[in-house]
Amino acid sequence: MAINLNIIPLNKWLDIKESPLVISGPCSAESEGQILKTAKKIAQVPQVKIFRAGIWKPRTRPGLFEGVGEKGLTWLQKVKAQTGLLTAVEVANPGHVEAALKHHVDIIWIGARTVVNPFSLQELANALKGVNIPVMVKNPVNPDLNLWIGALERINLSGIDRIAAIHRGFYFFDKTPYRNAPMWEIPIELKRLIPNLPVICDPSHICGERSMLLDVAQKALDLEMDGLMIESHFDPDNALTDPQQQIKPDELSQLISSLVIRREEGSIEFAGKLEELRTEIDKIDAELINILSRRMGLIDEIGKYKRNHNITILQLKRWSNIVNDRLKTGLNSGLQKEFLQKLLEVVHNESIKRQTDIYSGKEE
Ligand code: PEP
Ligand code: MN
Repeated sequence: MAINLNIIPLNKWLDIKESPLVISGPCSAESEGQILKTAKKIAQVPQVKIFRAGIWKPRTRPGLFEGVGEKGLTWLQKVKAQTGLLTAVEVANPGHVEAALKHHVDIIWIGARTVVNPFSLQELANALKGVNIPVMVKNPVNPDLNLWIGALERINLSGIDRIAAIHRGFYFFDKTPYRNAPMWEIPIELKRLIPNLPVICDPSHICGERSMLLDVAQKALDLEMDGLMIESHFDPDNALTDPQQQIKPDELSQLISSLVIRREEGSIEFAGKLEELRTEIDKIDAELINILSRRMGLIDEIGKYKRNHNITILQLKRWSNIVNDRLKTGLNSGLQKEFLQKLLEVVHNESIKRQTDIYSGKEE
């Protein structure tokens, strides 16, 4: 079911002539010179509308560079005056909000480590009551869509209606090529639940290194994300935070011009053919559901039969034979092994669940 948030569309408060909308700037503000040098270069890229810089940095261990603090906000005012870019900083507590407002920061964002904590979010929401500033909410570190939605709701309930979400990837227990696994299905589901919510992708924190930035940025656009946040620094290798993932302003410019901007809708013929293919998909999905329901009907029957004969539910040998057999058939039909494994696991888990319900008498 859709979730109703009162949101002003991005193009009503931002001038987005050149697509995609790009937010860029260093991970951290380090010095006035660094900020201005970077800002002046990236301001020449027409898609860059917003200059980002962390002033207060959430660091895992104490003793690391924790940001320059409030004095960095005066540098940002100079960025704005000298380049015309809007400015954005991360805030994590009401004191940060107050300082950002005092220095006329244009946009604030809430970082991934803050979004995990509903108490912090509520404190920020309270501090934002009656304040007229756009707020961007990063996804929480852990892959919990409801936590992300809850944060957006808290901010919206405080009266902020210029809101965007930022997809920066998620903690994943297993090794992946990314610093933060993108888990694209989560921002897609967010968009499905809150269709009027702009979602901006942050390839820098997803990748954690430069070589994959273009691919992730392109994928974000292909998935109809509304913009990109990409970290840039005039001397990335010597940056005080996130040195491996920041890129030079000219690399940013190159990356943006390499992006393929695809349209959401095409010609009448295109729409006709697409409709035809979609109708076909609808039919196949209906068949798929019907087949699954028939499979589960049989599972119930087997469950009752086994129960009546006092046989255990889980028959591992049978299951591993099924997996091997279905994998072989599936692979021969051109399906990917990982997909098949996941699918079989979901089906198997549901089958076990139905049978345990039967054994415990919940289902007759
Ligand atoms: C950042 O944008 O520099 C940052 C700290 O990001 P995140 O909150 O996504 O880790
Ligand atoms: Mn960073």
